[in-house]
Amino acid sequence: MAIIKQPSCDDPIEPALLPVAEAKRRLSELMPALTETDVVDTVNAANRVLAEAVVSPIDVPSATNSAMDGYAIHSADIPATGEVHLSVVGEAFAGRAYPSKMQSGEAVRVFTGAVLPEGADTVVIQEHVELHGAQVGIDHTAQAGRNVRHAGEDITCGGTVLNAGRRLSAADIGLIASLGIRSVSVTRTLKVAFFSTGDEVQALDESISETLPQGMVYDSNRHTLRCLLQALGVEAIDLGIVRDTFDDTLQALKAASEQADVIVTSGGISAGEADYVTKAFHELGDVSFWKLAMRPGRPLASGKIGNATFFGLPGNPVAVMVTFLAFVQPALKQRMGMQNVEPIAIPAVSAENIKKSVGRTEYQRGVFSMSEEGELTVALTGKQGAGRLSSMSVANCLIVLDDLVNGVKAGDTVKIWPFDGLLP
Ligand code: AMP
Ligand code: MG
Repeated sequence: MAIIKQPSCDDPIEPALLPVAEAKRRLSELMPALTETDVVDTVNAANRVLAEAVVSPIDVPSATNSAMDGYAIHSADIPATGEVHLSVVGEAFAGRAYPSKMQSGEAVRVFTGAVLPEGADTVVIQEHVELHGAQVGIDHTAQAGRNVRHAGEDITCGGTVLNAGRRLSAADIGLIASLGIRSVSVTRTLKVAFFSTGDEVQALDESISETLPQGMVYDSNRHTLRCLLQALGVEAIDLGIVRDTFDDTLQALKAASEQADVIVTSGGISAGEADYVTKAFHELGDVSFWKLAMRPGRPLASGKIGNATFFGLPGNPVAVMVTFLAFVQPALKQRMGMQNVEPIAIPAVSAENIKKSVGRTEYQRGVFSMSEEGELTVALTGKQGAGRLSSMSVANCLIVLDDLVNGVKAGDTVKIWPFDGLLP
C-alpha cells in the first residue's frame, strides 16, 4: 500500500501557503509606530528616528556671501564692450565684512565666504581681472550675479529640513548642527529581546565545552540577530539559548514579554515534536502561525504576548537572516516610527539561468558588480541551501524573485536588495 504523504517543506508548491505580500500586510498591522519620544542632544542622535520635523531657525547661508576669491562689484558697472577700471576701496574676509556701502565705480577685494558688501551683487574671480595699482580692470565678459551665494539659498528660515520618521544619518546630524539646533525629538529606543532554541544548539562559551560534542551545532542565529538588531539602533536584549522543553520556552517567552517591546526567536516553530515555541506561545498569547510561500524560510510565527509583539523565525541560519530582512526589519522600522521601511530594490542583469517555480517568492544569495560595459550584473553565490550561512557571508545582495517569476534566463533583469549603503 502506498504511503499517504503529509504536506512538507519538500513539496514544490502547496496551495495553502500564505503569499509574502499578504504576510507583510498582516505584520504591518501588528506594528504601529511608537508614540513615546525622547529629547536627545544632536551629538548623540545618530541612528535615532525623528519624532518631529526639524524646522530651520535660520537662513543658510545666513548672509549673501562670495563663493570665490575675487572682486565684488555692482553689475551695472560691467561694460557693454571693452574694459572698465574700478577703484578698490577695501577688503572683506570670511568672518570680517567690509564695513561700508559700496558706490558705483568701486570694487572690494573679497575672499570665499566673505559677506558680500552692501551695494555689490556680483563677484568677478581674481583670475579674470587685471590689477592697475589701486584699480582693478573688469571686462565685458564678466557676468552679472555670478559667484554669489544668496542668503537662504540652501535652507530658508522656517523651512522644513528633515521630516518626522527619518532615521538620522551622518549627513543629517551635520545638517542639524549647521542650523545651531542642539537637541532633537526622537522616538524612544525600541527594546527587542531575542533567544535561540534547540537542545542541539551550543553556546560559544567555552566553559560549557571546548569542543563541539557530536550532534551539536554552535549557535550562530543569536549572534547574527544581535548584529542585525544593533545595526538598526534598537536595544538588543540577549536571552541566551532556550532548551526544547515546554516549560523553558514558556518561561523565556514570559520573561521576554515583560522586558521588551518585541521578541524575536529562532527555531522550534515547525510542527515537529521538539518544536515548543509555537506550543508555548499558544498558551501565552494570540498566535498566528504561517507557512509562507517563500524560500528559504517557510514557517513564521507572529502575534502578541501582553504588550510585546512576537516573531518566531525558522531555525536554519540563512532562513533566519532572510526572514529577518524581509519581514522583521521593515516591521521594526515601522514600530520605530520610520518612513520608507522596505529594502531598496534595484534592477540587475542576471549572469546565469536561475531555476524558480511560480507561486512563491525566492530570496537567492547574489554577488552584484558593474560589468566592463557599465551594466549592473548579478551572479548566484553557488549552492543556496537554507543552512549554508557561508552563502550569506559571500553575498553582497539578495536576488528577490517574486511569486510570478517562472525561472530566470541569463540576460534577464532581476530585482536585487543590496546589503550595504554608503552612509552610516
Ligand atoms: P528547527 O526549526 O528548530 O528545527 O531548526 C532547523 C535547523 O536550524 C536545525 O538544523 C537546527 O540545528 C538549526 N538551528 C536552529 N537554531 C540554530 C542556531 N541558533 N544556530 C545555528 N543553527 C540553528
Ligand atoms: Mg529546533
